Amino acid sequence: MYKIISGKEVSEAVKLRVSDEVKELKENGIEPCLAVILVGDDPASRVYVNNKKKACEFCGIRSLEYVLPAETKEEELIELVEKLNNDKSVNGILCQLPLPKHLDEKKVLNLIKPEKDVDAFHPENVGHIMIGDFNFLPCTPAGIMEMLRYENIDLDGKNCVVIGRSNIVGKPMAMLMLKENATVTICHSRTKNLKEVVAGADVIVAAVGRPNFVTADMVKDGAVIIDVGINRMDDGKLCGDVDFEACKEKASYITPVPGGVGPMTIATLMQNTITATRIQNGKE
Ligand code: NDP
Repeated sequence: MYKIISGKEVSEAVKLRVSDEVKELKENGIEPCLAVILVGDDPASRVYVNNKKKACEFCGIRSLEYVLPAETKEEELIELVEKLNNDKSVNGILCQLPLPKHLDEKKVLNLIKPEKDVDAFHPENVGHIMIGDFNFLPCTPAGIMEMLRYENIDLDGKNCVVIGRSNIVGKPMAMLMLKENATVTICHSRTKNLKEVVAGADVIVAAVGRPNFVTADMVKDGAVIIDVGINRMDDGKLCGDVDFEACKEKASYITPVPGGVGPMTIATLMQNTITATRIQNGKE
């Protein structure tokens, strides 16, 4: 018998906790503020930015939105990031990815002050994650860890397989699981025996970006399945990387798409904004 881990439910709990923290900060005259930069008109990015704005409203966090045209010059974007870096009333800065091709993503992300880097993409924050001593955690992996904690799923000694090795999801996910004493394997497009590796997993995290990549024959009975993938199908519906209907029968826990990891990513962003606010105001 499987249980669906509802990202909606867990994220509500996180956002309520954040709202309480916001109230407390405001009582002390501190108003947390998140600035979001969106360059271009990618529809998926627009949806993500809108969801982030709604979450800020829910939590009482002031949100600033900077929408720049796709043809924005790198100097203009850099100027905006620097302005926000120097603005004491802004606690968190997020640049929605992907950026248009002519802009150097790495350069822009590295420019965000580490203490305002609520996505935790800056090399300084990535380094902190590697050594297990961090202020911010990347939103998606941290949201997944929160879901696992919420369901009392202990990773100690478990075989965890992460499919995907991106800097945003796969790599930091593996680090966080390692910190919880799991034995972690990372698979990617060059992995030779991927099916067998995944079949040995107690916990599977799929972050591939391919619909129905994880099939039931790859799932051990009782495995926990976390589906990070967001794939837009021809009929406009969203689907994850896991063949949910078939895999759920073998799983002990499974996350749906939509309503799984996605809302957790945003809830963690809210939490990171509060952490940033506390650090900047000496209230850790
Ligand atoms: P990337 O495209 O950066 O990484 C995908 C990874 O999957 C790569 O490491 C790639 O391997 C691997 N991969 C691709 N094809 C195969 C294959 N056939 N076999 C094995 N591995 C393969 O994606 P992201 O990590 O940014 O995102 C992954 C998915 O998660 C996407 O669908 C994205 O939309 C979604 N996402 C969802 C979020 C949420 O909040 N729910 C947040 C962020 C992402 P290699 O490195 O060798 O190329």
